[in-house]
Amino acid sequence: MSSKTDKFSRRDFLKTAGAVGIGSMLSPIGSLTNAQESSNPNETPIKVVPTRPFGKTGVDVSILSLGGAFHYSNLLLMKQALNMGVTYWDTAPGYGGGQSEAGIGKYFEKFPEDRKKVFLVTKADTFDPPRMTKTLNQSLESMNTSFVDLYFLHGISYPEQADKQIKAWADEAKIQGKIRFFGFSTHSNMEDCLLGAAKLGWIDGIMLTYNFRVMHSDRMKRAVDDCYRAGIGLTAMKTQSTGWGSKRGPLNDKERALLNRFERKGLTTGQAKLKVVWDDDRIASICAHMTNMQYLTENASAAMDSKKLSDDDIDYLKDYARETASNYCAGCRHICESTIDEKVPVNDIMRYLMYSRCYGDSEGAKAAFKEVPSEVRERMALVDYRDAENRCPQGMPIGRLMREAVIELA
Ligand code: SF4
Repeated sequence: MSSKTDKFSRRDFLKTAGAVGIGSMLSPIGSLTNAQESSNPNETPIKVVPTRPFGKTGVDVSILSLGGAFHYSNLLLMKQALNMGVTYWDTAPGYGGGQSEAGIGKYFEKFPEDRKKVFLVTKADTFDPPRMTKTLNQSLESMNTSFVDLYFLHGISYPEQADKQIKAWADEAKIQGKIRFFGFSTHSNMEDCLLGAAKLGWIDGIMLTYNFRVMHSDRMKRAVDDCYRAGIGLTAMKTQSTGWGSKRGPLNDKERALLNRFERKGLTTGQAKLKVVWDDDRIASICAHMTNMQYLTENASAAMDSKKLSDDDIDYLKDYARETASNYCAGCRHICESTIDEKVPVNDIMRYLMYSRCYGDSEGAKAAFKEVPSEVRERMALVDYRDAENRCPQGMPIGRLMREAVIELA
């Protein structure tokens, strides 16, 4: 599958940005026109993020998606994203304490004409069909729109969660014109969920954790391949593969070496991690957490730059993934959680630690942790995790992290 890549290198972009300053390069809100729509033949077109087909939906989506797991309050950021061609926007009712969808609603209130330019995605925070109807209606109201382009079941862990009732609900929502396409997001047992979905025949799109750490296993390769062949549009998330067991702070030696390697090639580490995923043509888009202009500019310029990583670079990332495996929970919850009687949601707790330690969202992490039943939280630190640790393919220090979570997230 080829992408409609405009020839505009990161160097060109940053050179231009450097000459005039990113702030002045990006025009004030409301004054920009999308270059693709310019009717002036003398005007040099502004290059935009390329697109790829989203499965068999017939829709081309931007290969970079504006991830909305935060408070969408910056209308300028959203406007600039659109003008850079970042036309795929992702959100969910719970993101930013509800302010993510509300921010999109404010944007469409101010710029209603932009609704048709955006491929808008939100998610159901329940798997119960009647409640899904309610939550979808609330999302539509919050976002000032009559429909979403793609609606996800949020965070399934097992393919059976996309059952016949859910299919019937999705079919009806499509008939009513409230959603165009339907699918799910997953960051646990991703391979099982993908392999199951590929057989269903009614899943239009999936957002999955996909990065340089998890993309190379034979099982993941087969899962992605099956979905691609089944015409399911795939969106990668968590491409930076932040270490869920590590804390923010100064770079260690391995991180410093990684940074130096890609800096010499004119890339940030983050851009290199995006590129290794974009190199996989089966992935339609990357959903990236971009909370400010710097991240947006850096990611968009990487998307516009068609230069690929070398085989050596990819091997380097593979080695780095192997050497730092114990910092990263790969989401294979069936392995560790099946060994624990106490029903500790190890995989979820690892994710909450990541939100707190790496995203700096300790409030969100604590709120999520509170959803774990109190009897489980109370016993979590006392559970024997040795069997789980022995089976964990990443070699995670599960017991230590569960005990730290009880203290940090309480
Ligand atoms: S702790 Fe280990 S076994 Fe459990 S989900 Fe994470 S990587 Fe998989």
